[in-house]
Amino acid sequence: MASSTHIEYPDVILIGSGVMSANLAALLKRLDPGIRIQLYEVTDGLAQESSDGWNNAGTGHAGICELSYTPKREADGSVNVSKAIEIFEQFEYSKQFWSYTVASGMTERPKEFINPVQHISFVHGESQVAFLKARHAGMAAHHFFREMEYSTDRAIIAGWAPLLLEGRGDVSIATTKMDAGTDVNFGEISRKLLNWLDQQEGCGIASGHRVVGLKKSSTGWDVRAKNLATGEVRENRTKFVFVGAGGGSLSLLQKSGIPEAKGLGGFPIGGQWLICDNPEIVSQHQAKVYGQALAAAPTMAVPHLDTRILDGKKTLLFGPFAAWTTKFLHKKGSITDLPFSVRPDNLATLLNIGIRNLDLVRYLVQQGTQSTADRMEVLRIFYPAAQAKDWKLIDAGIRVQAIKKTDGQAGIVHYGTEVITNTNHSISALLGASPRCLGLGEHRARSHKKMFPATAGQQRGTSADEGDDPDLRRRHQAIQERRALP
Ligand SMILES: Cc1cc2nc3c(=O)[nH]c(=O)nc-3n(C[C@H](O)[C@H](O)[C@H](O)COP(=O)(O)OP(=O)(O)OC[C@H]3O[C@@H](n4cnc5c(N)ncnc54)[C@H](O)[C@@H]3O)c2cc1C
Repeated sequence: MASSTHIEYPDVILIGSGVMSANLAALLKRLDPGIRIQLYEVTDGLAQESSDGWNNAGTGHAGICELSYTPKREADGSVNVSKAIEIFEQFEYSKQFWSYTVASGMTERPKEFINPVQHISFVHGESQVAFLKARHAGMAAHHFFREMEYSTDRAIIAGWAPLLLEGRGDVSIATTKMDAGTDVNFGEISRKLLNWLDQQEGCGIASGHRVVGLKKSSTGWDVRAKNLATGEVRENRTKFVFVGAGGGSLSLLQKSGIPEAKGLGGFPIGGQWLICDNPEIVSQHQAKVYGQALAAAPTMAVPHLDTRILDGKKTLLFGPFAAWTTKFLHKKGSITDLPFSVRPDNLATLLNIGIRNLDLVRYLVQQGTQSTADRMEVLRIFYPAAQAKDWKLIDAGIRVQAIKKTDGQAGIVHYGTEVITNTNHSISALLGASPRCLGLGEHRARSHKKMFPATAGQQRGTSADEGDDPDLRRRHQAIQERRALP
């Protein structure tokens, strides 16, 4: 869907058409039907960057199988699972909202964007097996994960995910499995939500428009957007800007000049997948299987073997592998993005990051120089019988890791999402690798209150946004009842 509708002086301008802007825009309009919204997107199509189905794994960061959210064992041998609970809850909010959009007719045909796929954690070797057992005990004790199963029995594991066992030697293995996982096409849900938004009174979507200027005004923000086809630059004025520009967010924040952006930097890491279309292999796997991080790999680079359902077709995807790049965006980025993002206020932080994160530097060098044979070796940790002829390498999305100055430390790399908001809440931006991008729940509810304290949404909030219900268990039950999306 390409669109070029312009709304003058809207209440909100959103930059970017990925899953973050699309969800926020749809939610705001639903909560406050009178609100006027303009969205700008630099590419001709919508949600073509990180949110596009081929550019991410579509796991949703549900907190079920990602071992990076439960990294350590405590002194008593137990595993602290509080982070996994928090992440799971946030993703349930997203699913709850999408379920609401289907029930209310905002979106249709949910199978095109969400499908049930079991989530499996897989480990090998004695110490990892012991870790997974302790993690399972911690997880299954919480009602979110009560149905999670644990097994070291090869016959049972072969029943869950046969490829894990094919050709495997005699090493101890363990898995946990939960059937309630999903595979999500973030690009498709974004396009559906924006399609709905575009038909609403007082809302406009202009694709093929790059936001080139952000200037503080007496009442809010002056936003300049360039039509890439004609070269025409339009100026618009709004009370509130949401910068959901993914890799483009840093440069826009720098343009805004807000003090909160001072000292921020970004470091891009390209992603790559091995994908398999061979129907004989694809038909044997219906799971997202996450393992442990390899050596110094950052948490966002933990390997996984995923079922993906994209454009109605099932595919297997393995990775991600990291690739070198200086671009911040795949489609409309430039090789000068990284050098041009370096400013006097972030130079020292960026240099210190390089010096203090030598493991990460080594990891990136290793990843950037690896061959197909090296990548197949990693795949065979999961699928020992994998053959190179069945797999091909494709590009995934680029993650721009947020780099921030912190007190007492020269700098810190953020693998998660950074939400930057100025003091009067007139501009908010998302930076970072965004593994928690879909934690729409509490941040959404909180930011909505701060930014739009007077909207009708405060009264309407109960059906589309149940973020304020204090009883976690009751909310979870409500979510479970609404879960059967496809
Ligand atoms: C390899 C990989 C695997 C991942 N796996 C998962 C996963 O399993 N689960 C999960 O939850 N997340 C995953 N993610 C993260 C997830 O894909 C992103 O967090 C999410 O898609 C980000 O959405 P967004 O809307 O913030 O950004 P994007 O989808 O990147 O959208 C930003 C949009 O802004 C536009 N834009 C940029 N600059 C401008 C400008 N100046 N003017 C106008 N428009 C502009 C861009 O063209 C783009 O369309 C993964 C990411 C990668 C790279």
